[in-house]
Amino acid sequence: MSAAEIRALIEKAEEVYRDLRLESVRRWKAEHKGLAIGFMPIWAPRELIHAQGGLPVGIMGGGEDVEIIKGDAFYQSYICHIPRSTIELALNGSLDCLDGMVFPAICDVIRNLSGIWKLRFPERLSRYFDVPQDFDPEVGGAFMRRELEELAHELEQRGARKLEPMALRRSIAAYNHNRARIQGLYDLRRREPWKVPTWELYLLLRAGLVMPVEEHDHLLDQYRAAVEVDHERRPMDQARVVLTGSFCEQPPLGLIKTLERAGCYIVDDDFVQVGRWFDKPVELAGDPLDNLVHSFLTDSLPSPTRYEDSDQKGQELVRRVEASRAEGVLFCAPSFCDPALLDQPMAVRAIEERGIPWTAFKYAENTGQFQVIREQAGTFADSIKLFSEAVTA
Ligand code: SF4
Repeated sequence: MSAAEIRALIEKAEEVYRDLRLESVRRWKAEHKGLAIGFMPIWAPRELIHAQGGLPVGIMGGGEDVEIIKGDAFYQSYICHIPRSTIELALNGSLDCLDGMVFPAICDVIRNLSGIWKLRFPERLSRYFDVPQDFDPEVGGAFMRRELEELAHELEQRGARKLEPMALRRSIAAYNHNRARIQGLYDLRRREPWKVPTWELYLLLRAGLVMPVEEHDHLLDQYRAAVEVDHERRPMDQARVVLTGSFCEQPPLGLIKTLERAGCYIVDDDFVQVGRWFDKPVELAGDPLDNLVHSFLTDSLPSPTRYEDSDQKGQELVRRVEASRAEGVLFCAPSFCDPALLDQPMAVRAIEERGIPWTAFKYAENTGQFQVIREQAGTFADSIKLFSEAVTA
């Protein structure tokens, strides 16, 4: 495959990413007659929706392309941006192809958004999906299983297929394959970050939020095959960094490109985590609902949205830095994001104890000016390279 073909794949992914009216979801519905169910960032039970004949659709707000006219009226100025743009999209009809929304327990803002949804769109399914913070199977596990069963029942009442164990097992297998492909690209980027620029990987992940999982697999396979043999992509003298904090509201695409152009190789990140949420495949043998619950309890990515003892906070970041051989950390969080910003001091303490350099900045999904961040990230990358060259000279 040529560079032009890689470009064509990425353009296709970008087209889906910028398709705020979800035209591809509308086409899927016309063809399949299934339910399209939106979900907010972090983990949502996509396997269950898929097994009931539906299309899970990841909603990540409006990004930089939506003008907020009514959405601001619903939230105070000291709240992050994603709920305003999501409400804006709903009120302007962009999301009217969705038969329902699942709001996973991320933070109070998302809980409030689910309440607003219920009031504004009473005719559609609106489900606050509580997830356990007690990881004992007898406690949190039993609770989560009941949540999943209730969601399956509500979907069925709205016209979805009844949840059958065999269908759920097939859907779990489908998402296992998809996660493995995504993880494979993350591994390749760790080894040879020049082959998989993060802004490209990010667009591929975003496209996967609205495509059927099988179609997304195909896109990932084509991309992987293409970059493996593209010898025009050569290593450059960039600083390897882990980017953390961007697990819910996503930064604008231009910001990711800016960081890379400023001299950073992003070798690990928090973007679109739903595609990598389980770090092992979900077991296929046995009761599939129990298996899904078990994976959530034991194999989920550590996240500020999951309970963790405070002395553990930051250790995961240290592990990620070591595993990816990163030379520094970029704390890159949305403005007013409590889960990200409240954890940051503990994460900073943990990496400072290891002498890992870091810098921090904030963004909103519609931030338009990157010059200040470019200078900050560029200076950070330069100082890493200068320092590491000094100590190895
Ligand atoms: S960006 Fe942060 S504060 Fe805002 S909804 Fe997401 S997790 Fe909550």
